[in-house]
Amino acid sequence: MIPVLRYIDVILPLPLQGTFTYFTDEEDLLVGQRVVVQFGARKLYTAIVKRIHDTKPVDYNAKPLLAILNESPIVNTVHLKFWDWIAKYYMCNLGDVMHAALPASLKLASESQVIIHPDFDGDMGELKSDEVLLLNALTHQEELSIAVISKLINIKSVFPFINELIRKEVVQIKEDLHDKYKQKTINTVSYIANDTILQSTKTTSKQDAFISSYLQLEEQFPNKKWIVADLLKQVGLSRAIFNALVKKEIFTVEQEGISRLLKSSQELIEDKQLASFQQKALNEIKKAFKEKEVCLLHGVTSSGKTELYIKLIEEQLKKGKQVLYLLPEIALTTQIIKRLQKHFANKVGITHSHLNNAERVEVWNAVQEKDINKAQYPIMLGARSSLFLPFDNLGLIIVDEEHDPSFKQHQPAPRYHARDAAIYLAHLHKSKVLLASATPCVESYYNAKKGKYALVEMHTRYQHIALPKIQTIDIRKAHLKKQMSQQFAPEMLAAIQQTLEDGKQVILFQNRRGYSPVISCGACAYTPNCNSCDVSLTFHKWNNQLKCHYCGYTEQVPEFCPSCSAKDLSDKGFGTEQIEEVLQELIPEFVTKRMDYDTTRGKNAHQQIITDFEQGRIDVLVGTQMVTKGLDFDNVALVGILNADSMLYFPDFRAYERAFQLMMQVAGRAGRKGKQGKVLVQTYDEEHEMFGLLKANDYTTFIDKQIEERRLFSYPPFNRLIVITLKHKNQRKLDETSTALVDLMRKSFGTRVLGPEYPAISRIRNYYHKNVLLKIEHKASISEAKSILHTIIEKMKTHSDYKSVRFILDVDPI
Ligand code: ADP
Ligand code: ZN
Repeated sequence: MIPVLRYIDVILPLPLQGTFTYFTDEEDLLVGQRVVVQFGARKLYTAIVKRIHDTKPVDYNAKPLLAILNESPIVNTVHLKFWDWIAKYYMCNLGDVMHAALPASLKLASESQVIIHPDFDGDMGELKSDEVLLLNALTHQEELSIAVISKLINIKSVFPFINELIRKEVVQIKEDLHDKYKQKTINTVSYIANDTILQSTKTTSKQDAFISSYLQLEEQFPNKKWIVADLLKQVGLSRAIFNALVKKEIFTVEQEGISRLLKSSQELIEDKQLASFQQKALNEIKKAFKEKEVCLLHGVTSSGKTELYIKLIEEQLKKGKQVLYLLPEIALTTQIIKRLQKHFANKVGITHSHLNNAERVEVWNAVQEKDINKAQYPIMLGARSSLFLPFDNLGLIIVDEEHDPSFKQHQPAPRYHARDAAIYLAHLHKSKVLLASATPCVESYYNAKKGKYALVEMHTRYQHIALPKIQTIDIRKAHLKKQMSQQFAPEMLAAIQQTLEDGKQVILFQNRRGYSPVISCGACAYTPNCNSCDVSLTFHKWNNQLKCHYCGYTEQVPEFCPSCSAKDLSDKGFGTEQIEEVLQELIPEFVTKRMDYDTTRGKNAHQQIITDFEQGRIDVLVGTQMVTKGLDFDNVALVGILNADSMLYFPDFRAYERAFQLMMQVAGRAGRKGKQGKVLVQTYDEEHEMFGLLKANDYTTFIDKQIEERRLFSYPPFNRLIVITLKHKNQRKLDETSTALVDLMRKSFGTRVLGPEYPAISRIRNYYHKNVLLKIEHKASISEAKSILHTIIEKMKTHSDYKSVRFILDVDPI
């Protein structure tokens, strides 16, 4: 029989439009499966099958599929629809979406570097000759690209070959992260005694007690595999007694490799009883979900939103559904993870940016796992990218701190907003979305008020603890009267001291990291700038360096002013590092630590700071935005905001919203247990109307006012925005191109086109930037507008004058 040729459209993990067609005579190929194809001169890639059909492409000769990788489909049709939507809505390539969605080891390419798996024990007995050949090569070379390996063995089989070795954990793909993959092991207990052993073995009374407690536990938790440490804790008897029982062959201990993502089972806590206002909110949410797909939960800080999530998650688990719990950043996760694990034990899986390749694949597989004896994660907790995990049974998505700007991806494409994408994903799964925050964003609040989303509110804190008392301090006056101790007004300093003397803790919020933003010359006012970006360098005192926060450029602080040679370079303003240092001088008897980007880079650094603060080893925590996010400490009585003004004056229509959210969120860390907390805000502009609303804890009025302003100035949610950023090294080229683009766009969009304009920072890494803004009214068809814009940009990109310019599209920029 002549094999029937079929055509396969595949997605490649490359920044390319659309799909590419190959042919094959393989019969049992499925949509969502991984295949290997050649693309370009001699490059090989893993691709995903998107469509199988029998239409021969008209304008090119299809090449053959080179191989089909193992396994069943790794993405299902719902994902493929989701990928399509992301690409279309955010105006990017399907390949970009695939690239973002899949862990590196699932998208091998010719360039992928293969290394020996760090846990490989060197036993080659089981390996085939090709495999031995590769391993020998890798012992000499350390790493080899797949392209090179394909010269060692038959090119067609190189991907399946590598894939199989990865599966056997003999090799792995080298990653950018240098976290070493480590197999984690735990010791689990099995009860192996039978009646004969029991009768013929002498046991002490304590040993008997141990056995009977174990048997009771077994009744209580049938089939639970106990970790030795956990069992000892439960039984309350010593390890020596247990060891004796192991010797007598009543128990046995096995060492098991465990999933790197499963934490040892912690003591589960009892379900909490909801307070009546919480129960009411929960009922309202459940009712809302009968009619609407999305519900916005506006609950003040410490109203117990997390407790509601727990109930909602339980409900989904009972139905056998999966839950995705989205959080803005890892910063928030450590406390939440612990709380969820206490309820749901090993059912909670976590993804975050510190995971290595192997862990990513493990999460991927676990989400798809149907076998209940293997790691399964019905509850997945993660930052924005966890939207791409291969759920197939999703019941609920919780978007916690839904207002947080880090849900939006800026770089690279797809530049998606996880909150908005979550709503579409839930729609595809026919599941529900809970958006929750103490400070919902203008857009969500507006949608809720309009009735598009349901709105549920909780206005009181758990146990009716009053919301913190917020006061402002006029530092203009304090400066004039020369009363400031460095950055601290006398009232602030006194309050800090009093709080600490009362045995309570303090959180200080400063919106800037580093020592002080800039240094400048006292003689000529010269300020060192980055040579490739249009910004001042930030001064870092601990290593006496100047650093560009955009491109990472660093230099030592010069001794003499490079401009006038005076020896008078000093710092202005202040960042977290300086605040930390000043406090250590002002109140040396207390421990001050800071939490910002610089101090939390290590894998566990962030967790360590939180634990130290939780356990009282730190008295004052100074931090950037990180300290505003969802933290739940019992003993914080005072929160200080050191320079509120620095947040207000930004040329951005969202500046006030952001500032208000940050201040309310950080204020929300105060007085969560016991007594009402206190918040002090230092400002030069006490009269600003925002502070009145802040002091009244009146978020709703604030948002209503913001909505009116947005309406007045035609900003979202009343208009949609698309920003086109053009980048080029040559400023003239950039100017010409952006003018040409605007001319073309005006023909279709008229006055809806704004710019071109240089952004606040107009040069980064030697590339000049220019922005063009497109504002589309809500009633107009956004998809039509996008399609026109797409055509214009593609035309520009192929034009010989403009094709060296980079075009970046950002839909719904924030
Ligand atoms: P939010 O997420 O709204 O800021 P949390 O869920 O963190 O609030 O709750 C604040 C604190 O109050 C937490 O320590 C939480 O454990 C506690 N809490 C909230 N509701 C209850 C409840 N029903 N029973 C016991 N403790 C609760
Ligand atoms: Zn720079």
